[in-house]
Amino acid sequence: MRQRSIGFRLSAWYVLVLACGLGAFSVAAWFAMRASLDHAIEDELQDRVRGVALFMEHQIASLSVPEIRDEFREHSVLGPGGDLFQVCDETGQWLYRSVAMENANVAIPLPGALAVPRFESQQIDHHILRFYSERRVVNGKAYTVQVAALMNESLEALHRFRLILWFAAPLLLIAASVGGYWLSGRALLPFDEISRAAQRIGIGNLTDRLPVPRTGDQLQRLSETLNATFARLETSVSRMQQFTADASHELRAPVSLIRTTAEVTLQRDRTSSEYRAALQEILEESERTSQVVDSLMLLARTDSSKEALDLVAVDAREVVKGAVEQGEKLARTQNLTFIADLHEGPLPIRGDADALRRAILILIDNAVKYTPEGGSVTAGLECKNGFAVTTVTDTGIGIAPEDLPHIFDRFWRVDKARSRDGGGAGLGLSIAKWIVDEHGGSLDVDSQIGRGSTFSIRVALQ
Ligand code: ADP
Repeated sequence: MRQRSIGFRLSAWYVLVLACGLGAFSVAAWFAMRASLDHAIEDELQDRVRGVALFMEHQIASLSVPEIRDEFREHSVLGPGGDLFQVCDETGQWLYRSVAMENANVAIPLPGALAVPRFESQQIDHHILRFYSERRVVNGKAYTVQVAALMNESLEALHRFRLILWFAAPLLLIAASVGGYWLSGRALLPFDEISRAAQRIGIGNLTDRLPVPRTGDQLQRLSETLNATFARLETSVSRMQQFTADASHELRAPVSLIRTTAEVTLQRDRTSSEYRAALQEILEESERTSQVVDSLMLLARTDSSKEALDLVAVDAREVVKGAVEQGEKLARTQNLTFIADLHEGPLPIRGDADALRRAILILIDNAVKYTPEGGSVTAGLECKNGFAVTTVTDTGIGIAPEDLPHIFDRFWRVDKARSRDGGGAGLGLSIAKWIVDEHGGSLDVDSQIGRGSTFSIRVALQ
């Protein structure tokens, strides 16, 4: 099922919450109004009983029953609803009974049956009446004083109030729904603008950015987040473009060399030793090319996060030892002195032995490549502050300070022409760095031009 728009859903929730709120408020207001009207009437009834009782206390001893009745009759016409009252004694004899009470023949509880004052409502001739009966003892005799009030007016007021609520609440709700829908539409307009602006940004113009409203709210955060995403995309895309350009450039040279060697060799008949030399050259160039392709494939896999190392418990000493043995052979072919200074005893780390060995070999291979004949290469392993630290030091050409920040970049070489002669494509250190990063370690370099370099790998001990 198609989801409704966010504006519609927002308004629907708003109307629902408002309807519940208004409903609850109306019910509560109606009950509060009824309770306050009831209270007012009951207070008035209690006041009247108090007045009657006070009169009896003062006059009952001095006046006869007919005189008392006359007094009551006189006073009863003074107040509103004053003619609605009657008084009887324990035997049910009337001390006073107003005409209205007599006409309606209202029953009265005897004082003996009235332990606590009593309120009750009765309908008499289309009128709703609220009665209040209280037992009063005057001069040692118990009486029931009963007064009543007409409820019509307060019921009428309650009815009017209910009508107002019935009409006002839906009107308010309709007005709020229309207003809410309009407001939510307006509030969401900037999101439309952002999405339109975002649609305009594509691979061709990744440098464009969305305007950021300085509102300090979700809108600003959304624009900033999208801009940050575009910035990351721009960096990745430009890195990919650079990578592709460098890779094709790197591959074009050996491929054209292979082709030219083959073409030149085939131009005329040659002796078998000439063919052998040409094929040897083609073979060497092919090997270099396939090494570059391997490195490129590995880096491409690391970029797409498909390549993951299998970290298990390994002994750093064993790993470094394996790499050092291979490195020593390399150094010997270049007439370099090779020194190994490895920590005695095992150094447990979590790592991928093959990958770590490859990273160390890259460092040794570089040390050998960039150290002139007669120099020396030292491989060391020590335990330092909870880390296994592998170092590869050479007495070679060194790296200039301005070049140091770039040496871990892909295809980056200090001296392009010289390095190609030496066989490097500028990918070794990028791969070594990726391997060390995957181990949660660090790869650092310290170098002085003309004096040599030290590369060190730090991986935490287990
Ligand atoms: P390459 O395959 O060209 O050696 P790397 O990524 O391994 O590529 O190294 C990048 C560049 O850093 C090298 O081309 C070289 O200029 C410089 N470099 C690396 N190691 C050393 C070193 N031990 N001594 C001097 N320069 C080095």
